[in-house]
Amino acid sequence: MKNVLILGSTGSIGTQALEIIRNNKDKFKVVGLTCRSRFDDLIGQIREFEPEAVSVGSEDDARRVREEFPGLDVYFGEDGLVEIARMDCDIVLNALMGISGLAPTYEAISLGRDIALANKETLVAGGEIVTNLCREKGVKLLPVDSEHSAIFQCLEGNGGSACGRAYAEPENSGVNRDIRRILLTASGGPFRGRSYDEMKDVSVEQALNHPNWSMGSKITIDSATMMNKGLEVIEARWLFDIPADKIDVHVHPESIVHSMVEFMDGSVIAQMGLPDMKIPIGLALNYPDRLRLIPDFSGRDEDRETDGSLDFFTKGANLTFEKADRKTFKCLDIAYAAINEGGSAPIVMNGANEELVAMFLAGKIGFTDIPDTIERVMGSATFGRPKTVSDILAIDKESRRLARELV
Ligand code: NDP
Ligand code: MG
Repeated sequence: MKNVLILGSTGSIGTQALEIIRNNKDKFKVVGLTCRSRFDDLIGQIREFEPEAVSVGSEDDARRVREEFPGLDVYFGEDGLVEIARMDCDIVLNALMGISGLAPTYEAISLGRDIALANKETLVAGGEIVTNLCREKGVKLLPVDSEHSAIFQCLEGNGGSACGRAYAEPENSGVNRDIRRILLTASGGPFRGRSYDEMKDVSVEQALNHPNWSMGSKITIDSATMMNKGLEVIEARWLFDIPADKIDVHVHPESIVHSMVEFMDGSVIAQMGLPDMKIPIGLALNYPDRLRLIPDFSGRDEDRETDGSLDFFTKGANLTFEKADRKTFKCLDIAYAAINEGGSAPIVMNGANEELVAMFLAGKIGFTDIPDTIERVMGSATFGRPKTVSDILAIDKESRRLARELV
């Protein structure tokens, strides 16, 4: 039985994780849950999963929870996330959105807890200090992001994986010397094939209409600008300890191949499946074992398309790949430049992006203002190399302020 703390339990990843736990009560027990705004959803989750602790958005909400559930430990706000991250558990699923995930994850790692990581912004902003702490504490950082779960699976049995066993066995670091490159796949998002000018006037609704995945609004906009892929290049750089110039983005509109690894002998290993986040969430939570998510193979033709499996005669019959258009979707280029520059650059990029995506979602700026303003913020901001989580959060805050000022 694994005791699981879910940070961000009311979100897209959080609720899918709870669905997995609901169907696997013999394997998992929920010990902690958190929300920010979806308070009523959290109340329902407390009734169903009976955790020991929760964290909510405000002091007022905390008081309401305490009145209804007197035995429960209740925290709130930014500090509340860090406090709940200290609770005793076997694994922390970080399904928070944005930079809010960094401080609680760092806290949980410092106490030796394994992490199932959906929140890529934690590694984009804090990659170096977070992965160093994982090595020092022997903590496993298990990827939930589908591409990184794919790469992780391709590396299993092929020299190991920097984010899994290797962190528990520091002598294994440098395991990826056999890798020639990582082929990181991208759906291309709703605006694949459009020109920059054709994206100027797109609406929030159009940008939220992702062809293959149903996700929270911030990552959905990131997918439309392709900043999501940029964030993922940086995430992969830290998870697998591999230079960004060996991470090669391939647009694959069908979202069946979740990523691939090419080895120095020319062999390429891919991980495939229908686009369903329950696969990577389940593997990270139950690692090293897989969960049963689909029924046994029946052999009957009529079951192929309906039993939840990937059928290569239909959905998997045509897999196509294109070069990423890094001129039009310049967020991808911005992200490569940021990771190559290092230091504070990825933090500035991430902070400005988060602020600008929120402004776009609120109808305050246009779609192409997102990449354009990120470029300007990065051109005007200079910060020293951050050494602590507080340094990172200070740079994040200042980058957001600059982004607001520049639009
Ligand atoms: P959602 O927006 O659906 O959920 C985010 C969760 O975090 C919610 O529980 C939300 O609370 C909470 N939250 C957001 N901001 C704060 C904050 N400042 N303080 C405290 N809690 C906060 O996001 P997703 O589930 O889509 O994504 C979560 C992470 O996983 C992101 O980093 C994303 O990039 C990554 N990811 C998501 C995928 C997906 O399929 N959704 C795929 C791959 C990666 P509330 O809703 O109550 O306000
Ligand atoms: Mg992804």
